[in-house]
Amino acid sequence: MGIRIAGITEDSIVDGEGLRLVLFTQGCPHACPGCHNPETHDLQGGTWLDEEALLSLIRENPLLDGVTFSGGEPFLQAKELALLANRIRKEFGSRPDFSLMAYTGYTFEELLTRVPSALDLLLELDLLVDGRFIQEKRTLDLLWRGSTNQRILQVPSSLEQKTPVLYLPA
Ligand code: SF4
Repeated sequence: MGIRIAGITEDSIVDGEGLRLVLFTQGCPHACPGCHNPETHDLQGGTWLDEEALLSLIRENPLLDGVTFSGGEPFLQAKELALLANRIRKEFGSRPDFSLMAYTGYTFEELLTRVPSALDLLLELDLLVDGRFIQEKRTLDLLWRGSTNQRILQVPSSLEQKTPVLYLPA
């Protein structure tokens, strides 16, 4: 099955640690007021990802520190993204400090209790930024996040401890 995407940014420095390729998935059910990417909401919009082309982009850029899944809501396509993340990790995971990260409008707790196949994708991730964008809590001061309710979580530790574990950047 394919992955429906809104687009790809090859060289972001604002969507996680270092220089990152960002895959923006298409489709989002959250309808956060003030969302900056309303064009990604339509579940039938976007285009289909060419996975081989994406892997080539990563291959061609040894400076990348990782890949970030953003949206849209990546966890609507958790099963498909988990397979892709696994391919990325197998081929590029040995690069120094290479990481996989995702954004989601769900909380970590919601992902585990309400979202089918969320665990498949979580098991492939290093970091997760969770929670809806809340306009009243909007800030420009926080790393990688748009509103103060959103958290950066260490995914392996959070899964292991069965509770959200914050990532505190140096
Ligand atoms: S979760 Fe993200 S993409 Fe979806 S409506 Fe909220 S801000 Fe927009």
